[in-house]
Amino acid sequence: MSEFQDRVVVVTGAGRGIGKAIARAFVERGAKVAVVSRTEANSQAAADEMNAAGPGTATPYAVDVSNGEAVAALGKQVADDLGPVSILVNNAGVTRDGLALRMSEEDWDTVLDTNLKGAFNLTKAFQRSLLKQPGARIINISSVIGLMGNAGQANYAASKAGLIGFTKALAKEFAGRAVTVNAIAPGFIATDMTGELTDDLRNKILEQVPLKDFGTTADIAATAMFLAGEGARYITGQVLVVDGGMVM
Ligand code: NAP
Repeated sequence: MSEFQDRVVVVTGAGRGIGKAIARAFVERGAKVAVVSRTEANSQAAADEMNAAGPGTATPYAVDVSNGEAVAALGKQVADDLGPVSILVNNAGVTRDGLALRMSEEDWDTVLDTNLKGAFNLTKAFQRSLLKQPGARIINISSVIGLMGNAGQANYAASKAGLIGFTKALAKEFAGRAVTVNAIAPGFIATDMTGELTDDLRNKILEQVPLKDFGTTADIAATAMFLAGEGARYITGQVLVVDGGMVM
């Protein structure tokens, strides 16, 4: 039996891309997964696909993670529907790229509110049940951009670097209850977020990647399975970089 059998897992941004792959991997291992995304049609379609494959279950929720009140209500709903949560994956994220000096306040706020405050909102909504579950886990999806910066992504870099600081502070706060908190920093992963790149840009990116390939959502899901599992019980406050060797 899988170590995730019947565990209650919340994955945000699970309507597509990396979050969907992580949610699917938990369902494949028998977990009860809350599939959270902004758009109802996306969370519903993703959950339907996962339920058809099983053996675990996927329950869709449409919530804007930047809205603290809505996320608090989600916390109550998930507890009623699925029971106490033992694994939280904060993955929902957006980009609004532009040079810092021309960036609108709205683009700054949207990215920080979704990528960073969203993780805070979710953690607050589920902290009580997480702190009571033996072997509970929080996994935050940061980015290599949070480690190295990127011209045109000051808002995104700040949000992802902020998520690393948040991860380390929480790891210290939750360590007394044996709850681990770690971050994954993906490099370039083939998803909708990177699908819009021109061929020229894709080739330029690959020049920076020693393994000469884009990562896949499955690569990130495998890392999340490792961090969520018993094999990672002695790892906390860390950033696992999954980027084909770009940052080393
Ligand atoms: P994606 O394909 O664009 O999917 C983003 C997901 O986040 C969608 O399910 C979206 O919901 C959800 N979302 C966005 N804003 C939300 C909000 N306010 N409330 C709730 N859900 C929201 O992105 P991805 O490429 O899979 O990236 C997933 C995470 O990995 C992000 O945090 C991203 O920064 C990080 N990352 C990605 C890469 C990469 O190369 N792709 C690299 C490093 C880090 P809807 O479907 O409903 O719109």
